[in-house]
Amino acid sequence: MKRKTAVSFVEAALSERQVERQPFSPNSVKKAARIRNATAVHSVCPYCAVGCSQLVYVKGRTIIDIEGNPESPINAGTLCPKGANAFQLGTNPHRIHHVLYRAPYSDHWEQRPLDWAMQRIAELTKETRDQGFIERKDGKVVNHVTNIAALGGATMDNEENYLIKKLLGAGLGIVSIENQARI
Ligand code: SF4
Repeated sequence: MKRKTAVSFVEAALSERQVERQPFSPNSVKKAARIRNATAVHSVCPYCAVGCSQLVYVKGRTIIDIEGNPESPINAGTLCPKGANAFQLGTNPHRIHHVLYRAPYSDHWEQRPLDWAMQRIAELTKETRDQGFIERKDGKVVNHVTNIAALGGATMDNEENYLIKKLLGAGLGIVSIENQARI
């Protein structure tokens, strides 16, 4: 059975209305949404526990758009502003591939590669954890770290937050782990 998408609803409505009788120019009639002839792949928004269904439109091996799935009983074709921007998150040409670093006592920022930043974060985390790790408290084994906290951002998805909780909580013993998305 052919899946009904927002475009197929519009196309069906247009054909029913007999296009030649409508006050559209020939050019307007020929125009089509860019998702026409794209493959609609079912997916789930990665951001929060609501689990809204998405249609990911693909042409060739390229994602060209992501919309809410009208067949979903959860979101009925809608997406919140965050989920509606899933396409831009994946394809944004303004995505930054480096970090800005200001060294201690420096008065200017330097551009550094992401790999350098990851190494620096790992070293500082290890150093700080070694200083703050508490094995026992009040006679009880606690094995925890209270001098580091983690605060997640809104564009982190479920899988990233799962890994953060595993690594920082179970792995490193960090107690204070918080996230905007309430996961
Ligand atoms: S972030 Fe928004 S679109 Fe995504 S699952 Fe949650 S409510 Fe739905």
